Amino acid sequence: MLKIGLIYPELLGTYGDGGNALVLAERARRRHISAEIISVGIDDDVPDASIYLLGGGEDGPQRLGAELLRRSSFSSRVRDGSYVLAVCAGLQILGASFAVAGNDEFEGLDLVDVVTRRGATRAIGDLVVRVNERVLVGFENHGGVTTLGVGVQPLGTVERGRGNDGTLDGYRTSTVWASYAHGPVLAMNPWFADTVLEGVLGHELAPLASEADRLYEERRALLVR
Ligand code: GLN
Repeated sequence: MLKIGLIYPELLGTYGDGGNALVLAERARRRHISAEIISVGIDDDVPDASIYLLGGGEDGPQRLGAELLRRSSFSSRVRDGSYVLAVCAGLQILGASFAVAGNDEFEGLDLVDVVTRRGATRAIGDLVVRVNERVLVGFENHGGVTTLGVGVQPLGTVERGRGNDGTLDGYRTSTVWASYAHGPVLAMNPWFADTVLEGVLGHELAPLASEADRLYEERRALLVR
């Protein structure tokens, strides 16, 4: 059973990032793998899950989400091997610290050696990231600029937009995928949904054709010249 823990959708659900949970569950079920979405509310403890999903959030909800997660069992469960897909505010929360508007700095969960400072401008618009031989498409809307610690691998390199810092987007550890891309990113990039699913399940999956592939190809053709 694939258990998908959707973390604080009421705080970290900007731009429908909760849709990432629906996509993972549905792509698993279409392969006859049972999947359950556990929506974790702000008053709930964080239950065991195969993968946790953290979405984007405005500065205030992001700070509250980080505080609540710090007091929960989330970090120990991730250290024990649960996977994480983190988008935007979620990406920042997993790091050592992040700054919100006004440059106030807040402690992150320090699960990954990254730091987010406030950029001079907001990054708003299309985001295109090369991830090995694939292309990830999405959109971004954030004020943060994220710097990876020595040895932290990015998810990919930015071809359009800002991502972390105008050059790299996100990060990748043995159990975490993080990106600035909203979309929801797994709905916009079926190949990436399967990459995450294969990582969590620990085996390859047969290809799955869907309407999402056609939409992905259309977006890619528009955005990559
Ligand atoms: N509050 C964060 C920032 O502006 C994250 C925004 C988001 O998740 N879209 O950088």
